[in-house]
Amino acid sequence: MKTHDENRAKPFKCKLCDYSTDNKHYLTSHLKIHDKNREKSLKCYQCDYKTDLKSHLKSHMQIHNPNREKFPCLYCNYETTIRSSLKRHLKKQHYPNRV
Ligand SMILES: [Zn+2]
Ligand SMILES: [Zn+2]
Ligand SMILES: [Zn+2]
Repeated sequence: MKTHDENRAKPFKCKLCDYSTDNKHYLTSHLKIHDKNREKSLKCYQCDYKTDLKSHLKSHMQIHNPNREKFPCLYCNYETTIRSSLKRHLKKQHYPNRV
């Protein structure tokens, strides 16, 4: 009778739940499910921007690039490196009634 063979030692145990495994790699990937606080762990070092996606951070960083093309407002001295921000500015400041 070898009914206990499947329960052989699982030395890697999760501290946060009952999960245990004999494969360290599985434990490491299991631990990610308890990792809720690490959401938005990527931070911009130049402003308060935070994200959990590397690609988002990368595109965010473009706004700090001094060589980036700027979009000035034609009606005031506002300028921005983000085209959508200029659009928002125009709509809000200069065309508040336009839909
Ligand atoms: Zn766990
Ligand atoms: Zn930033
Ligand atoms: Zn303006």
